[in-house]
Amino acid sequence: MITIKTDSQIACMRRANQIVKNTLELLREHTRPGVSTWELNRLAHEYILSQNATPSFLHYNGFPASICVSVDCEVVHGIPSKHKILREGQIVSYDCGAVYEGWHGDAARTVAVGLISEECQKLIDVTEQCFFKGVESIVPGETRLGDLGHAIQSYAESFGYGVVRDLVGHGIGRQMHEDPEVPNFGKPGHGMRLSEGMTIAIEPMINMGTERVDWMEDGWTVKTKDRKPSAHYENTVAITSNGIEILSL
Ligand code: MG
Ligand code: MG
Repeated sequence: MITIKTDSQIACMRRANQIVKNTLELLREHTRPGVSTWELNRLAHEYILSQNATPSFLHYNGFPASICVSVDCEVVHGIPSKHKILREGQIVSYDCGAVYEGWHGDAARTVAVGLISEECQKLIDVTEQCFFKGVESIVPGETRLGDLGHAIQSYAESFGYGVVRDLVGHGIGRQMHEDPEVPNFGKPGHGMRLSEGMTIAIEPMINMGTERVDWMEDGWTVKTKDRKPSAHYENTVAITSNGIEILSL
């Protein structure tokens, strides 16, 4: 069931998403060779609590941390660990959610650890551009989910990248995951129309190589099948009478 939000509900979601955005900026500032992914999780956890919010991911279906930290070939849902130390040249994706006064925010960024290769930087940049290609494709009340997915997919594939099929974006509001599913691939003219009052998380997950993925035995981590790098970029957006508002920027 799709829940349509009022302007005042979208205002609550804006606050939750600003906390998420600030958490991701804090994580970017602290990204450096030698830091453990658990330390980054601790920073995010404490910041979210300091804003009178709660990390959405902690204990979500049993997830043991407050953020997901996915390195290199890990696509999403990496579990922070004291034993996982970031190294120069890696790329790291942070996925963060926060609940504020009952409303969720959700966003993700991929950042460089020290100096990275040109090809990894391009993957990060194109993944971010994929999100904006998707947003630019939306005309409220007209654009369908298939049009949005197609805009993202065709852009990513023009660089030879793989668009993950097993994981998709989603509606968001009082729940972190609501209807509809928001795929990063699709056929123009297919799927439901995006209309005023909908709030969705658009989150391209783009692989340097194959789109195929493996699910790890920890029950969470998803890796690329060919173990080439993957990037993730996500924002929560609201579809309003004035157009699209990106709540987590
Ligand atoms: Mg997310
Ligand atoms: Mg999400």
